[in-house]
Amino acid sequence: MNDSNTTIDTLKEQVHQLCLRKGWGIEGVQNPQHVAMAMTVEMSELLEHFQWLNPEDVEGLMNGDDPERVAMIAEEFADVMMYGLQLTRTLGIDITRQVLRKIDIVDHRPPKPFNPKR
Ligand SMILES: [Mg+2]
Repeated sequence: MNDSNTTIDTLKEQVHQLCLRKGWGIEGVQNPQHVAMAMTVEMSELLEHFQWLNPEDVEGLMNGDDPERVAMIAEEFADVMMYGLQLTRTLGIDITRQVLRKIDIVDHRPPKPFNPKR
């Protein structure tokens, strides 16, 4: 399974099955308020891998010079994403619909004066 052959619904179900196996929440559904808070903790763990990096280090990440750090970032990203999948499943949010809606909103915003390339 990878991004090219897996639907978001499949991932939502995989995370739900994990919650059921672990006995988390009520019938595998955790309080969405708690899930949202946990998501920010995981986001902080992800950010920790970028803390105090200089621009050359970040460039190195993008060029594949630090695969170990990228693997740690990927793991924390997965934590964030898994909470996001749980949250959206619980609240009945269609991720694709919301992302496309948001792209449309941003697309129609006037440009900001400063827009860095990276
Ligand atoms: Mg984590």
